[in-house]
Parts: sequence; C-alpha cells; structure tokens
Amino acid sequence: MSATAETVGVAAELDRELTERLREGGHRVTSQRLLVHRAVHEQQRHLTAEQVLGSVSQALPSISLPTIYATLELLEDLGLVRRVSTGTGALLFESRRTPHAHAACRRCGQIVDVPAPQIDPDAFAGARAAGFAPEEAQLIVFGLCNACRAAG
Ligand SMILES: [Zn+2]
Ligand SMILES: [Zn+2]
Repeated sequence: MSATAETVGVAAELDRELTERLREGGHRVTSQRLLVHRAVHEQQRHLTAEQVLGSVSQALPSISLPTIYATLELLEDLGLVRRVSTGTGALLFESRRTPHAHAACRRCGQIVDVPAPQIDPDAFAGARAAGFAPEEAQLIVFGLCNACRAAG
C-alpha cells in the first residue's frame, strides 16, 4: 500500500468514527468538524487551537478561531479529543485518549507524554469523600527538558 493510500484510509476511518458520534449525539456532520478532527488526530501531538487553525486554514480559509474552539469543545464532549491543562496558561488539545501524564518544561513549554496508567487513585477517593463525582485527573510533572538543561 502506498503512503497516500494509507493516509486516505486513516482519514476515512477518522471521518467514519466522527460521523457516527455526531449522529448519535444529534449533531450535524460538517466538513469543518471532519477537518478539525482529522487535524488533531493526524498530527499525534499536543496542539493549541491556533495550530489547529493553521493546519485547516488552507482547506477552510474562512474558519475563525472561535469556531475552532467551539469545534474542539464539541469533539471533547464526544470523547474524541482530550484537553490538556499545562498549568502555564496554554490550552492544548490532543487525540491520545489513553490515560497518561505529561512532563512540561518550565522554560520552553515543551510537553511530552509520560506513561502513567494509574493517575492518583487516592485523589479520586478523596474527591469522592468530598462529595464530587470524579471524571478525570491530570498530572503534570514540571521541570527542565534536555535541551534547556544543556543550554544551562
Ligand atoms: Zn525546555
Ligand atoms: Zn498527551
């Protein structure tokens, strides 16, 4: 299979999954929703809404940043995109939905995924004891990345 055919296959699979979820939720299937969803999933990293805008703006020249945010929020509600709080003010979106933690460089802002299948069950138990219904926890390890440490 050529790389092109493979890319088309992945996009078709992503479109199929989103179309199914949108219909289940009674939402319209639009090309902008399909393209934003593809953009987040195809890049396999942590993206700001501005970066998502940049990657779809060629195909959708009239799309605005508020529309990107609204679309990302809808995808988040559908469970297809995860919002990452970095603690540094930047809001990032990612497609990886399996539980994991993040390491964030406090100097350059680089974010990497860290395997951590069990994020603090004690915190969940504590939240339950305080009357909350816990949904998810995010763990961020702050420090300096390799490049920033090397730069001194
Ligand atoms: Zn760094
Ligand atoms: Zn991540």
